[in-house]
Amino acid sequence: GQERKRKKVGSPKLTFDEIGGQESAKQELREALDFLIRHEEISKFGIRPLKGILLTGPPGTGKTLMAKAAAQYTNSVFVAAAGSEFVEMYVGVGAGRIRDLFRDAKARAVKEKKDSAIIFIDEIDVIGGKREGGQQREYDQTLNQLLTEMDGIYTSDAPRILVMAATNRKEMLDSALLRPGRFDRHIQVDLPDKKGRKHILDLHAKNKPLAEDVDLEKIAEEAYGFSGAQLESVMNEAAIYAMRQSLEVISQNHMSMAIDKVMMGEKTDRESNA
Ligand code: ATP
Repeated sequence: GQERKRKKVGSPKLTFDEIGGQESAKQELREALDFLIRHEEISKFGIRPLKGILLTGPPGTGKTLMAKAAAQYTNSVFVAAAGSEFVEMYVGVGAGRIRDLFRDAKARAVKEKKDSAIIFIDEIDVIGGKREGGQQREYDQTLNQLLTEMDGIYTSDAPRILVMAATNRKEMLDSALLRPGRFDRHIQVDLPDKKGRKHILDLHAKNKPLAEDVDLEKIAEEAYGFSGAQLESVMNEAAIYAMRQSLEVISQNHMSMAIDKVMMGEKTDRESNA
């Protein structure tokens, strides 16, 4: 039931420092979040309150981490859902779930005595895809309900609600979602550059025993085009190689093998998708 659906709740203790790279995205996000924190000044100036932030970019780059860090930064409760959870065979079920999601977020904020709640919806394109002229889909009601909820957010009274959503297909989204007062703030979360990759490797190497010869700088260079999620996998696979050989530490060779393994994995994924 609801408990199962709302599994990804809680007030995650995750800060922006635990997100590697993404310096400009983190900065932009913090600036946007200051609108939520400084809501009194915002209303004094008659500035439109912030209701929605859209995170765009390829899979595994840390969009979910960003939303969790946003909740921590603003001292908000965090409620997460994925677009696919709202797609149902029966008309109205998805819309009901959206209503519940907003109700849950408010109730949790009240219960935990927080002034705000962040609702994170991953894969927003699943429910917010473009509505082609006149074509009715069974989950249009779901999208309409989301728009209604967002329009109904009263930002002057606590708990204030901020909706964050993620997609890797921004161009697919219905323009109704992108209008002012809805998801009008867009933050691009790109694949990390070399410096970002090194930072992410450092973060995931923290709890792992590395041999003297390990050169994460070099690994970062070799891992060109890797996402944060793939870099996390590299560190993990390297540790598994070391453990299998009953060694005490992870060597540079394990790291190289792990890079190959993650790269191959991606390739076979892509081939099987083709
Ligand atoms: P998707 O769009 O596929 O849901 P996402 O962009 O939301 O992906 P996350 O779920 O945030 O990606 O990242 C998945 C995992 O990859 C994280 O739990 C973390 O271990 C690792 N990761 C991704 N990006 C970063 C990053 N910038 N810094 C540190 N770890 C990262």
